[in-house]
Amino acid sequence: MNFPVTTRRPLEGEHFQVVVIGGGINGVAIARECARAGRRTLLVEQHDFAAGSTSRSTRMIHGGLRYLEHGEIGLVRESLRERQRLLRQRPHLVHPVNFLLALDSRSRRSALSIRAGLWLYRGLGGKPLGANGSKADEYKLERVLDSGRRWSLFSFEDAQCEFPERLVAEWLMEAVAAGAVVRNHTQVLAVDVFHGRAKGVLLHDRLSGKEDRVEANWIINATGPWVDRVCQRSRINTGRPMLGGVRGSHLVLPRFAGAPDSAVYTEATDGRPIFVIPWNDQVLVGTTEIPDNGDPAKVEPSTQETEYLLRSLLHLFPRARVSLHDIRYSFAGVRPLPFSPKSRPSEVSRKHYLHDHTSEGAAHMISVIGGKLTTAAELARQCVDKLGLRPRTSAGLATAPEENLDALLDGWVAEIADAGGIGAGSAQAIVEWHGGRSLAIAATAASSAKMRAPLCPHTQHIVAEAVDAFTHQCAVSLADVLLRRVPVALGGCWSETCSRDAAMRVGTVMGWSEHEAAVELEGLEMERTAFLRKPARIDLMLKAAAD
Ligand SMILES: Cc1cc2nc3c(=O)[nH]c(=O)nc-3n(C[C@H](O)[C@H](O)[C@H](O)COP(=O)(O)OP(=O)(O)OC[C@H]3O[C@@H](n4cnc5c(N)ncnc54)[C@H](O)[C@@H]3O)c2cc1C
Repeated sequence: MNFPVTTRRPLEGEHFQVVVIGGGINGVAIARECARAGRRTLLVEQHDFAAGSTSRSTRMIHGGLRYLEHGEIGLVRESLRERQRLLRQRPHLVHPVNFLLALDSRSRRSALSIRAGLWLYRGLGGKPLGANGSKADEYKLERVLDSGRRWSLFSFEDAQCEFPERLVAEWLMEAVAAGAVVRNHTQVLAVDVFHGRAKGVLLHDRLSGKEDRVEANWIINATGPWVDRVCQRSRINTGRPMLGGVRGSHLVLPRFAGAPDSAVYTEATDGRPIFVIPWNDQVLVGTTEIPDNGDPAKVEPSTQETEYLLRSLLHLFPRARVSLHDIRYSFAGVRPLPFSPKSRPSEVSRKHYLHDHTSEGAAHMISVIGGKLTTAAELARQCVDKLGLRPRTSAGLATAPEENLDALLDGWVAEIADAGGIGAGSAQAIVEWHGGRSLAIAATAASSAKMRAPLCPHTQHIVAEAVDAFTHQCAVSLADVLLRRVPVALGGCWSETCSRDAAMRVGTVMGWSEHEAAVELEGLEMERTAFLRKPARIDLMLKAAAD
């Protein structure tokens, strides 16, 4: 069977009511909302959907406990409301997590202020989420904490979306279903501005090399940390930058002996907040806050950040026996925060706002500044409201019943296993990542043994998921598939050998020639090693050993 990968019709001369630039979580949410409001919408992404800051975040769906310290009650309330919505609408992707807040005796925060903050946070959050956490977790953590210090532990609930890439893929498919035209690997070279009004965009298709010009009634610049660059290229003078980029880095380690089952929120060696979170069967440690206005596509953790995060982890867990060598990979992203040159990065508000360019000679163009994964859907509703469109309320969207969710998911897994002729492990893995698309993937799996094969020997995820990503989820390269639609390459044991196995197995059913499979493999490896970085010193040692 041969699957066409890139059949993209030219867009030259087409007219759209809305063009959204940038396919991160905000752009995809806005495009979905505009398409649902019945507007002819084009979404353009220069790389792949969710490849920017969205896939480089800490992956929490949270109210932002620490924003309370800055008095941002409105932001916390909005975020908690969105957290609730996501938990109900995407229970396969967003789940409650128990957090333990661990503060040692040197903390500048008093136990009383923490208790008051948590009381308010719980009150604003409404009903308990039912995260799996217990006193046993607390005792377990107490046993592994540095016993030379006095620690106070407080527990609270929040949520996690382990794979925002998948959330974006689902919203993207909903945008397409509502009529949006979507293009990844297509860059907006400039916004066309005539007589004080944004009229369209010039596109460069990075796959075909072709340039197309399209017209639009409205342009939404949702390019996250690239937002000022789009304006500069379009000669829209905003006077001062709209954005102040702040880099955040993370380490990914294997689960070490004594690693807690709960997420831990604590203070780093310099008193800044950091998280140690169970993620993707590994441990995610993050993050940092370093002003960074360099090219967001080239962002990477510095040696100092890696050492800082590792030292902070060991400050908390001195017996963890983890060192630089244990770091599986590190990654960094740029927070697209509002320009605030006089504030420290941690003090800059995480609130989003919509910048209207009318007074700068580009009416009908709006730039999105800031935002979080948690609040992207609300930001999108506000954006269509600003365009004068009626946002669709979430009342019509399916939500999970609050009771018996586990039983419901178990039943769904059994149905998928049966329909696909696959084991329960693979069926569960498919349901967790693909939700409502699982049945279609199971039907593809049922068609042949090659479709049911695992993508590599260590994963339950199967070739049929990759094929569905190419045929129904707008993936155009193996890197799009294995890093974002079926993100197995973020797993702990993924290696170049796994990439090669996956390229071969997927290539066989996609009908790739040997050369095509080699090109796909090379693209995947280049992107994987640029994104998921081995800390510099380890790289040097590995290189020396190889020489
Ligand atoms: C370190 C870190 C930790 C975070 N942790 C959390 C968290 O735990 N919880 C939370 O809720 N939020 C978190 N955030 C915030 C959240 O991840 C971001 O605010 C959000 O992902 C921004 O989404 P976006 O769509 O605006 O930007 P992006 O995801 O960066 O998307 C913008 C897209 O625009 C594209 N683009 C740029 N220029 C062009 C062009 N000319 N033409 C076409 N496309 C273009 C880019 O390729 C990119 O894909 C974190 C962010 C960071 C960096």
